[in-house]
Amino acid sequence: MDGVKCPNCGKRTSWENNPFRPFCSEKCKLADLSRWLNEEYAVAVEESSLEEDEANSGS
Ligand SMILES: [Zn+2]
Repeated sequence: MDGVKCPNCGKRTSWENNPFRPFCSEKCKLADLSRWLNEEYAVAVEESSLEEDEANSGS
């Protein structure tokens, strides 16, 4: 039997027929995604000031 642990709440959920996998529900998917985006944004802001030359070369 396949199963996956929801990365957000740790609840065991099924992989098949689960549109929110690997999360157990849309709520957990959105909660984890927003948390990830917030962390990514914070890191991107810090790194952009360190690597300004590379970041701006494309624009
Ligand atoms: Zn969950």
